[in-house]
Amino acid sequence: MTSTRGPVRPDGTPIDTDAVRRKYLEERDKRLRADGNDQYLRLTGELAGYLADPYTPRVERAPKTDHVTVAFIGGGFAGLVTGARLTEAGVTGVRIVEKGGDFGGTWYWNRYPGAQCDTASLIYMPLLEETGHMPTEKYAHAPEILEHCQRIGKHFGLYDDALFHTEVTDLEWDAAASRWIVRTDRGDEFTAQFLAMGTGPLHVPKLPGIPGITSFRGHSFHTSRWDYDYTGGDPYGAPLDGLADKKVALIGTGATSVQAVPHLAGACAELYVFQRTPSSVDVRGNGPLDPEWFASIATPGWQQRWLENFTATQTGAGTGEDLVMDGWTDLARRMQASIRALPADELTPERIQAAFDDADVEKMEEIRARVDAVVADPATAEGLKAWYRQLCKRPCFHDEYLDAYNRPRTHLVHTDGKGVERITETAVVANGQAFDVDCIIYASGFEVGTDYTRRAGYDVTGRDGVRLSERWADGMRTLHGTYVHGFPNMFLVQPTQGANLISNVPHNLTESGRTIAAVIRHALDTGSCEVEVGAEAEQAWVDLLLTHPGTRMGGPDCTPGYYNNEGQDAGPRAKLNVGYPAGAAAYFTYLDGWRSSGEFEGLMFR
Ligand code: NDP
Repeated sequence: MTSTRGPVRPDGTPIDTDAVRRKYLEERDKRLRADGNDQYLRLTGELAGYLADPYTPRVERAPKTDHVTVAFIGGGFAGLVTGARLTEAGVTGVRIVEKGGDFGGTWYWNRYPGAQCDTASLIYMPLLEETGHMPTEKYAHAPEILEHCQRIGKHFGLYDDALFHTEVTDLEWDAAASRWIVRTDRGDEFTAQFLAMGTGPLHVPKLPGIPGITSFRGHSFHTSRWDYDYTGGDPYGAPLDGLADKKVALIGTGATSVQAVPHLAGACAELYVFQRTPSSVDVRGNGPLDPEWFASIATPGWQQRWLENFTATQTGAGTGEDLVMDGWTDLARRMQASIRALPADELTPERIQAAFDDADVEKMEEIRARVDAVVADPATAEGLKAWYRQLCKRPCFHDEYLDAYNRPRTHLVHTDGKGVERITETAVVANGQAFDVDCIIYASGFEVGTDYTRRAGYDVTGRDGVRLSERWADGMRTLHGTYVHGFPNMFLVQPTQGANLISNVPHNLTESGRTIAAVIRHALDTGSCEVEVGAEAEQAWVDLLLTHPGTRMGGPDCTPGYYNNEGQDAGPRAKLNVGYPAGAAAYFTYLDGWRSSGEFEGLMFR
């Protein structure tokens, strides 16, 4: 028996998938470039000013020279959830070291107008049940998420010993004393029995390497350091009245830009949005959460149930019930439906792949049709269409972004893959035309494809003086993405080599936090000075990771971006940037068993 249904548009007309695939490759080829990640500028030297904290004044303090039980590097979600679980486990002496002026991590820095979570608040905002908070919207805005971070910090007593505006410069294992030495840019040199790090995947802002960028004489800033003194308004949505007489260039059209454009569009005298590659912008469907409805679902254990349901639905391990019902789960539901529609004798890897591709192309045709339905000017609409598979680049969701281009003073400068050519003292030049502007806002993203230790801003020296950068010279090697052989009492809180669930990163972090708290509790209870993964257990995990069948995110057929290392072969090391081969839902089940058994197989306590 052979199935005959190919991909169709919502009106039932067939989609010519060969033509679409050819177009995808043409658009990719326009954007491939030899310099990959090197096209971006690091914010050092004369560009370091772009990193200044516009939100909190720095307060002088005396250096710390004491001892703590746990030092956690990073005060974002990773540090907060791990700190919370440690507090719950009765571990005292937890010190969070954070480069920002408060807790929040990404939500401390990203206060640009319109910032909100792209994954549903009920699963994105951690520890809602523990803190008794009900998000106000299906997708909460940034100020509410920042306040929630502060709520977690207060609820679990994490402010008491936190060090803000403090950057770690060096971490060194002291084998004689079985403890870590933590050094910082504040002159601190304190010790910690345990060290954990959650420095985040997207926290080092970058600028595009556009010729002339430093010659601009007007005002400029990066979106993660929004200058409300200049623009007026505030992160809560007050109008950006400082821009009423300003011509503004916004460079970049990724997830940040998509959220900021609707706010800038009404506010600037003229807004020019410089686009190299359009984002796919699907339906948002935000709205307030109803307290009565929330009370009906928020029965004990509700957030864990929602987390598990989202992960299972999104990764194809669901039972059919979809609690979150949004753009992330829609694509997954479609793919599963395509596969379920296959007759049993056609369930081959090739047909399953084809079913995925059909579901994807249908989804993307809908997203492209939405542009035509919303944007009045046909040329602008054409320019805003994304020609790649949905998981080639970060999917976006917004209900006002496309409509912003219907405003008379909002201009899309579509560069057809070429990007901005040049910046002069007064203008941004693209498509051979100079656009005079008063202000340039860089929505140019964050470092991703660079080394972990470069992004962290410090290296870690483990047993026998071995540095983490050396240990990982041929790629990351861990057990669970958390434990590294040769680095006793050290824990990483991040998704890679664990669940690697990108659509809801906090789920990775909460599970890691819970597990690390259990391991530290066990070490303290058994009087162990050290806990370390054995070399064999680490190798076995790495071997397991190498059986990963490959991911649908990114890939060489994709248009360049950080999902595919800017279109460049990342070499053999990239094979290790994967998750548990059986998928995120299976990983969380595995981890739960590993943790609850109390045996912590693969770890050595001594
Ligand atoms: P991105 O890296 O996604 O976007 C950078 C943008 O700059 C791209 O559109 C890029 O184009 C463009 N660009 C780079 N160089 C040039 C140039 N020379 N000329 C013109 N344009 C150029 O950064 P974002 O800050 O938007 O997002 C980063 C990530 O942060 C997201 O992918 C997401 O994971 C996260 N995020 C999450 C949000 C949420 O959950 N609510 C909100 C915002 C961000 P090109 O595509 O061609 O490279």
